[in-house]
Amino acid sequence: MKEVKIEKCPFCGGEEWIESNVSTMTGRVCVATDSTTRIAVLFATVCRDCGSVVRLFCKTPENLYPKKERRE
Ligand SMILES: [Zn+2]
Repeated sequence: MKEVKIEKCPFCGGEEWIESNVSTMTGRVCVATDSTTRIAVLFATVCRDCGSVVRLFCKTPENLYPKKERRE
């Protein structure tokens, strides 16, 4: 998985981040195929200064689409 570098908060210019998993009932991404349901936990990057969520992401995208099953 590629590293994403966030330089500045687009809302307040803050440069400090809190990374946390999104612990709500829907805080994950699900991909349902014919026989399986794949789940990856959703994480958020939150600006420490203004609290804006600047990024939502999964740390394990391969859980959703294992490489061998990717479309060609
Ligand atoms: Zn901010």
